[in-house]
Amino acid sequence: MPVSGVKRVGGIGAGMVGVCAASWLQRDGHQVFLIEAGEPGHGASFGNAGCFNGSSVTPVSMPGTIRNVPRWLLDPLGPLSLRWGYLPAIAPWLVRFMRAGSPEKVHAQARALRPLVGPTLETLKPLISAAGAEDLVHRLGHLYVYRSAQSLAKDRLAWELRRENGVEVDEFDADELRQLEPALSRDYVRGVLVRENGHTSNPLELVERLLEHFLRSGGELVRARARGFRLDGQRLAAIQTGTGDLPADAAVICAGAYSKPLAAALGDRVPLETERGYHLMIADPESMPRIPTADADGKFVATPMETGLRFAGTVELAGLSAPPDWRRARILLAQGRKMLPGLAASHPEERISVWMGHRPSLPDSLPVLGPSSASPEIIYAFGHGHVGMTAAPMTGKIVADLVAGGPPAIDIAPFAAGRFG
Ligand SMILES: Cc1cc2nc3c(=O)[nH]c(=O)nc-3n(C[C@H](O)[C@H](O)[C@H](O)COP(=O)(O)OP(=O)(O)OC[C@H]3O[C@@H](n4cnc5c(N)ncnc54)[C@H](O)[C@@H]3O)c2cc1C
Repeated sequence: MPVSGVKRVGGIGAGMVGVCAASWLQRDGHQVFLIEAGEPGHGASFGNAGCFNGSSVTPVSMPGTIRNVPRWLLDPLGPLSLRWGYLPAIAPWLVRFMRAGSPEKVHAQARALRPLVGPTLETLKPLISAAGAEDLVHRLGHLYVYRSAQSLAKDRLAWELRRENGVEVDEFDADELRQLEPALSRDYVRGVLVRENGHTSNPLELVERLLEHFLRSGGELVRARARGFRLDGQRLAAIQTGTGDLPADAAVICAGAYSKPLAAALGDRVPLETERGYHLMIADPESMPRIPTADADGKFVATPMETGLRFAGTVELAGLSAPPDWRRARILLAQGRKMLPGLAASHPEERISVWMGHRPSLPDSLPVLGPSSASPEIIYAFGHGHVGMTAAPMTGKIVADLVAGGPPAIDIAPFAAGRFG
């Protein structure tokens, strides 16, 4: 490390987490480069629902989740699918996933997540104002809608977890819901609005603008695939890439769902999987909600985007290399038309676009965030699952705290790579 305290820091992966970490590191005065194997922002950060939901503290595995799995798997319009050939590979992850859903554990996971996701918009603000990207981020809240009082009651624990972590909500009955969001189907009879939440109307553009600002401010983008690290004892000497070694004083692994082999190269075996998700977009939709709206039973979100209406969600367990099953995206269209009856019954194909992306997921719905066991100079920042856009701004700040050698702003012990034993 140079005497001045200025370090040369390499981030691996230019998704939302990578650009936020790079931005915070750069603001601390470091010389930062991002290594990207594909196109910046074209990983999971490309096609998500765009929600910056500070209220997203509920883990995916909850008490009772497992009881729903057979019903979800059998329902062709259901929110979960599994490629059976992938079952042997994912079985150990599924076992951990089931164990993570005990009542005590979900309370602890929610407590750990809130400081990471809660301040999302405040932490993002200085980055978007410097990058001239304020027009892409909106604070209009997030609406959850239910088809019956019983289905809202089934989500009781999720709302309890949010409330006990300081999330304030407003509940609406059928009439109030209609006034709030007239585009919604009358089948919805309950709504819960979380006003603190926000969204971006263009996730890719957001990553690109943050990246452009980082580059204009002296940051570098290296087009290469990171393969491992050259260490001198516990000191980092260089990041090894397909096109040669890049000397660095510190490194950040923010390669999303592709981070596992990089952590394994450092001796940390983390059960990182991909929960594949899909989106379907309609350009020039006949109807659109005003604010992002989640169908709580269907587990998908309808987000008003600059480029049209995006339905995003669902989980497919099939690994990193299987080709997309575009029927999963079409399911979102069928569900979306039920949510918004003002949409046409059919659309010309040129107005429809589909996408599949890899959520980087740990079984306990918490990321891996903190130093590697091989070197305190190599920091993990991956595995944010369903909440990576939301958690990215604070994750980036914590990475900068760790590189500075100071204590991070929040407790990161629950995110340790070693927690899986
Ligand atoms: C359908 C869907 C909806 C979602 N909705 C939301 C939402 O509303 N709100 C929310 O908060 N989150 C949401 N998410 C989750 C969110 O999109 C992800 O958690 C987040 O984008 C992860 O960001 P990342 O930077 O870690 O990964 P990525 O965006 O995947 O970026 C990783 C980058 O690393 C690069 N890379 C990989 N390996 C290497 C290597 N060896 N060398 C160099 N580069 C490498 C990749 O090319 C990629 O560009 C959603 C996800 C899906 C799939």
